[in-house]
Amino acid sequence: MSEARRTWESDLPKELKIAFQLLVSANHILHYHGLVDAFGHISIRHPLNPKSYIIAAYDPGAPALVSNRNDFIEYHVEDSEPVHPPQPKGYSERYIHGELFARFPNVQCVIHSHSEAVIPFMTAKVPIRPVFHMAGFLGAEGPPTFDVTTMYPSLQSYTSDMLIKSRDLGGMLAQHFWDSSTPEDTPSTSVVLQHKHGFTCIGDSIQQAIYRAIYMQKNCALLKDAIDIAGGDAAAIQYLKDDEAQACAKMNELTQDKAFRLWLREVEVNPLYRNDEGIPKSLPVGGMNQN
Ligand SMILES: [Zn+2]
Repeated sequence: MSEARRTWESDLPKELKIAFQLLVSANHILHYHGLVDAFGHISIRHPLNPKSYIIAAYDPGAPALVSNRNDFIEYHVEDSEPVHPPQPKGYSERYIHGELFARFPNVQCVIHSHSEAVIPFMTAKVPIRPVFHMAGFLGAEGPPTFDVTTMYPSLQSYTSDMLIKSRDLGGMLAQHFWDSSTPEDTPSTSVVLQHKHGFTCIGDSIQQAIYRAIYMQKNCALLKDAIDIAGGDAAAIQYLKDDEAQACAKMNELTQDKAFRLWLREVEVNPLYRNDEGIPKSLPVGGMNQN
């Protein structure tokens, strides 16, 4: 497997070097926060070539175990085929990423998670809506759900394993990020739930996508607690109202850099994780003062 893995130059352009530093740590952060285990993945659009994207190879694959650029493969956005074949085995679900990058030109990062905090809500048919100010990005009505099994009848062949392992299914999932309230090339939601599977979220940066994934999960934990306290009555829960969700979503955009610096440090000092690309040291500082 390792003999075929030779895609990246040792001397990379600065933009790509920083992207790898962030991408390796991003994999670790998602694991540290329980959004991925051996499964689940994060990808970025290539910073210098918008027609390709970068995602971990199947080996070592588990996000906690990636450590440098040669653990990643570059794929064409157009068809999710390797840019530099032959390559080692890739994720069967990379079409989630490829079709989102293809459908929405401004998406720079895609995260796919099987979060155990999220799935039970779909199983129990309890809608996920925002219950605190850090989850305004979910929108007052919460994210839509994609049920892949409803797509099977339209396919010539399929296996009922819930996976998004073709361009057709990836395209159908990507379409659920849009509901005609925005221009066709602009997503209407940043999160789509996947019934009996997990969720996928998008961002215009690694920091934004990770923020959304982490606070999606935290919101579900709070919502579950609230429903428990309410004696199982989901109808008794008080969610963010529409204007609150919109204002909180704006605020969420301005403070992601603060959270991300903490998340970077958490994985930097944890011996499970290795980032041979180096930890990015001088990330831009935003914050509320930008407002
Ligand atoms: Zn999956």
